[in-house]
Amino acid sequence: MSAEAAAKVQQLWEKLVIRRVSRTIAREPEDVIRMELKAVNPDDPTRLHYSGGSERVITSMRSSDVPKEDRWRLSTYWRHFYGFTTDGVYFALGRHEVIDHGLGLHAELEHDDGRADRRGIYDYRPLEGELIAGELSEGQKGPLFNRWFRCTRQFLFLVNLIRIGQPMPKQELAQKLYRPTAGWGDTYWVFANLVLNDDISPFIEVLMSEDQRPSHAAAGMKDFFGLVVTNQAIHLPFDAFQWLHEMSLWLEQPEWWKKFLEETSRLGLVHFHPVWGGVCEACEFEMMKNLDFPDYESGWFDYQFPYSESRANFLERNSNYRPV
Ligand SMILES: [Zn+2]
Repeated sequence: MSAEAAAKVQQLWEKLVIRRVSRTIAREPEDVIRMELKAVNPDDPTRLHYSGGSERVITSMRSSDVPKEDRWRLSTYWRHFYGFTTDGVYFALGRHEVIDHGLGLHAELEHDDGRADRRGIYDYRPLEGELIAGELSEGQKGPLFNRWFRCTRQFLFLVNLIRIGQPMPKQELAQKLYRPTAGWGDTYWVFANLVLNDDISPFIEVLMSEDQRPSHAAAGMKDFFGLVVTNQAIHLPFDAFQWLHEMSLWLEQPEWWKKFLEETSRLGLVHFHPVWGGVCEACEFEMMKNLDFPDYESGWFDYQFPYSESRANFLERNSNYRPV
């Protein structure tokens, strides 16, 4: 039930706060490890090249040596910096961490945020006006972020939506939460759609052929490559089916995964989870419950056969996909 899932996430995010950065302090060149100018997208000079490649390294390690009009694409790897939010909360490099794991979620929601803006994925120094999310603790001189990550207004919106807990049509969620600047622009709206609406349809649509797949919920918007979204499948930071299966486990919503298996079987859609992608913790959990031991060497798990067809049939039909 969506209300239960939303309540669960609200609880996991209880301590999560989002603040706006007032300033960060970093010294050049002393605190710089590496400084490079990212390449421009040849099709759209207002964006970075989708390869993430660099045009040149700034050997002086001083941003003042880069022309002002090029500084938006300057990426810096810092050894140290610190800063304050508009309400005076201290934060520093070294305290930013992969936070959603710590909060009990493995949705990789923060994974997007290295690409939160047009600067590089490793440039974690947030600038004035940007948002950071994290957990606070009491320091000697007042509150400080004990861990944090750079985030976006879409992430802020996502957190507020989940806290309100009200279902919302998936197209509306996508309009608000699709991330055209991110490599995995679908993560936020797919998460909200699952948690608030109990809707697994985006995962079914991944398996449909292009001529059968309905419009993407963000159809009409531009994607990471600057192309208009039509009916492409969703992109998540890792295998979409593993993502759904693990969400089903972490948020204690077995119905989501059950519904997915029933729908795929009803529509005759074959999914290869967990053959593709890494080790799925939800699969492991199901096997452990039956006192089976996952076959880590081949990455082959037995759990899915009872839902669809015999293992022998499946192996025969999908022999090309069997890991060797
Ligand atoms: Zn799984």
